[in-house]
Amino acid sequence: MNKILSAITLLALTCTLDGCESKPAGTPAKQETSGTGATVGTTSAEPKAAEPEKPDIPDGARRLMAAYPDAGITYSDNRIIVGGESIIYDDGQRKDFVRQLDDSDVEDMFTMTYDTEAATPGYLNDAGRGRCEALFKAMYGHNAAEVARHLVTVKWFGQNLRFTSVNGANRQLEKVAAELEGKPELRRFFGQSSTFYWRKVRGANRQSAHSYGMTIDINVANSDYWQWANPGKDELAKISYKNRIPMEIVRVFEKHGFIWGGRWYHFDTMHFEYRPELLQR
Ligand SMILES: [Zn+2]
Repeated sequence: MNKILSAITLLALTCTLDGCESKPAGTPAKQETSGTGATVGTTSAEPKAAEPEKPDIPDGARRLMAAYPDAGITYSDNRIIVGGESIIYDDGQRKDFVRQLDDSDVEDMFTMTYDTEAATPGYLNDAGRGRCEALFKAMYGHNAAEVARHLVTVKWFGQNLRFTSVNGANRQLEKVAAELEGKPELRRFFGQSSTFYWRKVRGANRQSAHSYGMTIDINVANSDYWQWANPGKDELAKISYKNRIPMEIVRVFEKHGFIWGGRWYHFDTMHFEYRPELLQR
């Protein structure tokens, strides 16, 4: 039993290691049923058979391919192929809430819905807070120096911010800035913003999204964070929600592909992260 468990743990760990290039041979793709069976026999006289069955591409993989067209992502046999690296899509493991955050495979990233309509986040809905590190490292860089190579300057309310050009994230942030420029009453929310910083999430062993250069924290003075508002509470505790960031700002970011940390149960209202795969319908 323990042996099996540690083998499973090892396999899962490959997803959080740089590159994740080792390919466990024959990792079985989950047989997904497409749910299209109902159409059988309902359509015309198309010739049957002959066509080889196309392997199903899971929804999360489709979303990635559509959201990051420049990355040239492909999917095959339970692997996401990106930047010459092969990353396991679904490690087949059931994970509790904390483990899913710390040890997310690609499939896990799509198990929660990023809800742009809810007034406040539902209990433990942290859509986007978990990330498959191998995937983000393959796209944005495996270390500070690699990520830094892709950073360019984005003008942001009097600041020159460094933001990644990978996946056109810098252009999306420029669109956010252009749209918000016309609203001087909101300016006080944007001073002293910060972006790239290669580091672990405080108190955890996973890489912060700020490491990849596609994340911005706006002015901390008007921001709220779940641990500040709920000192001493752990990840599973019921906590109270607090936000002072106008939704007008949030909507502009979301329109251009950024998710907002204020939509997480474990809220971080200064935090906006370029994650267009979670905003697609
Ligand atoms: Zn942040």
